[in-house]
Amino acid sequence: MTRDVLPGAQTTPTQRCPQCSSIGLPVLIGLPDETAMEAAAAGELVLGGCMMGPDGYAWECPAGHEWTGDEQTWTRAVDLALAGRPRCHDCGGRTRRLVYPRALAHPGETEGLADDIAAGLAEMSPDEGPPGVYSTRICHDCRALLA
Ligand SMILES: [Zn+2]
Ligand SMILES: [Zn+2]
Repeated sequence: MTRDVLPGAQTTPTQRCPQCSSIGLPVLIGLPDETAMEAAAAGELVLGGCMMGPDGYAWECPAGHEWTGDEQTWTRAVDLALAGRPRCHDCGGRTRRLVYPRALAHPGETEGLADDIAAGLAEMSPDEGPPGVYSTRICHDCRALLA
């Protein structure tokens, strides 16, 4: 399995299992979407299902031990696991949000957009795109649009 390591992605103490010292994965509680299921299939996070999990930000190690850590580390780990997903259906490359110009008239559609563009997580589309659609996802590598 190849794994994308982003700058600043380091192992922190709260990612280590307090019982066996293995590296843990963040546990995502709630009904998973396609993006979360793909990250789980890639072994980058654990789906906790719809049940109420432990209080706080849960982790699980390969041996099944569970513990909770701090919000910042957990949120960053989940963001990294979900970044660039869903992967391109054609080449498996990372995708980012492609925003159509009409979305700019709807503040709810463009919240955080400037930050996402600066971070390389989104880009503006030069064309209008299909009617009624505010955004889709585009492959970094082959530029295919995600269906
Ligand atoms: Zn463990
Ligand atoms: Zn692609």
